[in-house]
Amino acid sequence: MNTYIKSLVAALVLVPAVASAQTPAELPTKGRDTQLTYVMPNPYNVEVIQAPKGKKIKNVILMIGDGMSLNHVGSAWTANRGKLWLDNSQTVGLSKTYCANRLITDSGAGGTALASGFKTNYHSVGVDPDGKPLPSLNVFAHERGMSNGVAVTCRLWDATPCDFLCHIVDRDNEDAVIADYVNSVADVVIGPGYEKMVGRKDGRNLLNELRDKGYGIYSSLDDLENAKLKKDARVYCVPYPHDVPLPLERGNWLERASLKAIDILSKNPKGFFLMIEGSQLDDYGHFNDIKTLMEETHDFDRTIGAVMKWAAKDGETLVIVTADHECGGLTLVDGDLNEGRIVCKFSTGGHSGVLVPIYAFGPGHENFTGIMENTDIPRKVIELLKK
Ligand SMILES: [Zn+2]
Repeated sequence: MNTYIKSLVAALVLVPAVASAQTPAELPTKGRDTQLTYVMPNPYNVEVIQAPKGKKIKNVILMIGDGMSLNHVGSAWTANRGKLWLDNSQTVGLSKTYCANRLITDSGAGGTALASGFKTNYHSVGVDPDGKPLPSLNVFAHERGMSNGVAVTCRLWDATPCDFLCHIVDRDNEDAVIADYVNSVADVVIGPGYEKMVGRKDGRNLLNELRDKGYGIYSSLDDLENAKLKKDARVYCVPYPHDVPLPLERGNWLERASLKAIDILSKNPKGFFLMIEGSQLDDYGHFNDIKTLMEETHDFDRTIGAVMKWAAKDGETLVIVTADHECGGLTLVDGDLNEGRIVCKFSTGGHSGVLVPIYAFGPGHENFTGIMENTDIPRKVIELLKK
């Protein structure tokens, strides 16, 4: 066999068994292949953050932009007149997102890979392809005596936060998956969606069950921010029955939620693991809605800035920013940096199979460069924390 044939055979062997087609229901056609123009009315300032040097890793913050590709980042960067907080990253890598049984993954399997270090089936949450529960980075942290949590903008029964704290074979079984939070090791959970926690068909009140387990329960971020918390407080903050409001209505909610989670978790002298998700980028990729998609991406970027600033001051915190998969097949086809104008096209109402970026900041950042499997990200985190 000549080298070309050999590499072709190797490539074919490496391609996982996939079902590439998405169901028609996942593919709305609004905006498909038409040029959509967005001009950002109020660009925000970005500072240069001095990266810390030479310290050990004590804390890890994993930030997931659901459905965020380089085209999302490039479009957001152009719209904000050529600047993003994300530009403070020290290292950039690429992550392969395919799951165990499909080329194009979803937030169930994609997030489970980031949470546990194992590929699983499409729509599975926190379980392997045989349905066996997979321990996440939250569990790893908990077992080492570290604190752990999640802070997200999506309803808590949505896939990504559940990938880290719950276990279920099919994410569509929403009433069942959200009930699994009661069994999780989380110290801090901040995210909306109480409508599936109280007034349930099975008569359970999950917030009461969590209260009985010793958690402080808060129905707004204001209440949590104003609460006098004990040093080892464990909390659930679940405002809003479903998702959080749109970015322009909710203000810097995700930034506040993230900093409050960090404030609580960082009281532990052994360190913490926190997953933060800009959850709704994915929704507006599915809807092919470029304006709201950019607002969500900018909201996530400003949260990244706040987290990186905290991490720079702390010096012992590794911040990783990545995505579980791309959404919308977004392409930046034209625009103007001075005007903050972008012209984009969507090619699908579902997810696409492109590699997604990994950004890292803080001690250990150099481990996240190059091309890797999505599962390598948590595996590297575990190795770094074991050192
Ligand atoms: Zn999606």
